[in-house]
Amino acid sequence: MDYIAERVKGIDASGIRRVWQLAQQMTDPVNFSIGEPDFPVPEEIKNAAIKAIREDHNGYTMTTGIEPLREAVAAKITEQFNWPRPLVLITSGVSGALQLAFMSTINPGDEVLILDPHFVIYSHMVNMLGGKNVFVDTYPDFRPDAKKIAEKITDKTKMLVINSPANPSGKVYSPQELRDVAQIAAKHKLLVLSDEIYRDFSYDGPAASIGQYYANTLIMRGFSKAYGIPGWRMGYMALPEHQEQLFNRMVALQQYTFVCAPHPFQIAAVTALECDISQQIDGYRRKRDMLYDGLKNTFDLVHPEGAFYAFVPAPGGIASEFVTAAIKNNVLVIPGSVFSRQDSHFRISYTTDDDSIKKGIDRLCRLAEKGW
Ligand code: PMP
Repeated sequence: MDYIAERVKGIDASGIRRVWQLAQQMTDPVNFSIGEPDFPVPEEIKNAAIKAIREDHNGYTMTTGIEPLREAVAAKITEQFNWPRPLVLITSGVSGALQLAFMSTINPGDEVLILDPHFVIYSHMVNMLGGKNVFVDTYPDFRPDAKKIAEKITDKTKMLVINSPANPSGKVYSPQELRDVAQIAAKHKLLVLSDEIYRDFSYDGPAASIGQYYANTLIMRGFSKAYGIPGWRMGYMALPEHQEQLFNRMVALQQYTFVCAPHPFQIAAVTALECDISQQIDGYRRKRDMLYDGLKNTFDLVHPEGAFYAFVPAPGGIASEFVTAAIKNNVLVIPGSVFSRQDSHFRISYTTDDDSIKKGIDRLCRLAEKGW
């Protein structure tokens, strides 16, 4: 008897699993694979969570989230987007927000435009729902090209996913690029899903949002990366007021799935929004520089501008082969095929200590230079 539903049979996690299996044999590894920050959680945020638990804020909250957090988020959204009364839903991480958004919008056969390479969840959600992923190739510079996006639009296209600063490319889209993409989205009345989880990690100037140029946008932001709390499962989504029907559907779905985001962490998230993380960002800018300067003479990589990733072309052209060799040389990186239809690049996450970064650069460069 096959108990497994068809909808989950297409979820393929084998790429990552293969890497982890190989990683089991590593000694003295440099771990460039982790998609989370390595800085400690600011004390005031920890204290706010502990206080909330001690003061018995451990029950359910309203499905939409606690009012002080929704209000604090709404104020920030209004300030940036000029949306007078944004609709705010507190979610279980951005992953939770993504699930609600895809489930509430994608019918079988609907086409979703995704820039390739891309964060893994998007395409798997679309597959699971019977939608069709339509990939827009952004190699080799990973910039969003409005013309290329326009070429892929059909009468079935419903949604466009934008993720800037981007995982895995580390690119931050410019205001002009986002304006151009917004124009195409507006022309075809697309719904835009803007995943801005790395918004704070923009090293050469603030990251713009496509929501500034096109109001038919679901803004998704999170707490996992900025405050080092991915295990708390906190995120949110903000929509313009005219999307109230969609918003209500997502609230209903959250009610029957996640129920609500964790109560004590919602309280701590109010404190987090007030917290200054500029020192942490400065630290990662320095690590970005260190990594880029260390690799640029050996690898033909584009300049990483944000998030905490570099997406590097593999010498020899086949990333999975280079990644296997890198792992044998005790450097754990992720092959680009996990994020892409192309197996030409590998992802480095530089959220580790300086010594490990230096060691990792050294090992990767030696491997590239001597061959494997
Ligand atoms: N979006 C992107 C682009 C990510 O890289 C991640 C985490 N790796 C997420 C969303 C999900 O983050 P979370 O669910 O922890 O908020």
